[in-house]
Amino acid sequence: MIEWLLKRAGVPIHHHEVKNIRRDGGYYILDEQYRCRYLVGAGGTNCPVYRSFFRQEQTSVSGQNNMI
Ligand SMILES: Cc1cc2nc3c(=O)[nH]c(=O)nc-3n(C[C@H](O)[C@H](O)[C@H](O)COP(=O)(O)OP(=O)(O)OC[C@H]3O[C@@H](n4cnc5c(N)ncnc54)[C@H](O)[C@@H]3O)c2cc1C
Repeated sequence: MIEWLLKRAGVPIHHHEVKNIRRDGGYYILDEQYRCRYLVGAGGTNCPVYRSFFRQEQTSVSGQNNMI
């Protein structure tokens, strides 16, 4: 479905598993290979956008990491 929508939009499609995202000025840098001003996070439960910019690490009272 998403491929169909992207093809209709007529934009280039790159398949790439994102490992690292960082900010650089007004840009997002993905794995030192891609650069963009706007980034949409749609990676499901392991979304790297969520992981990098929105997830707050939670620790329990005993200091162990919780599953989120
Ligand atoms: C077994 C099962 C049954 C389900 N049944 C139902 C149901 O009956 N009804 C219902 O409403 N929901 C159901 N769900 C939930 C539903 O699948 C999800 O809510 C929905 O798919 C979420 O859509 P999404 O686009 O956010 O993420 P996803 O569909 O998970 O898509 C995420 C995409 O991001 C890609 N991606 C992930 N990490 C990276 C990365 N680092 N770099 C590049 N790409 C990446 C993945 O390859 C994937 O293509 C079910 C889920 C499971 C596991």
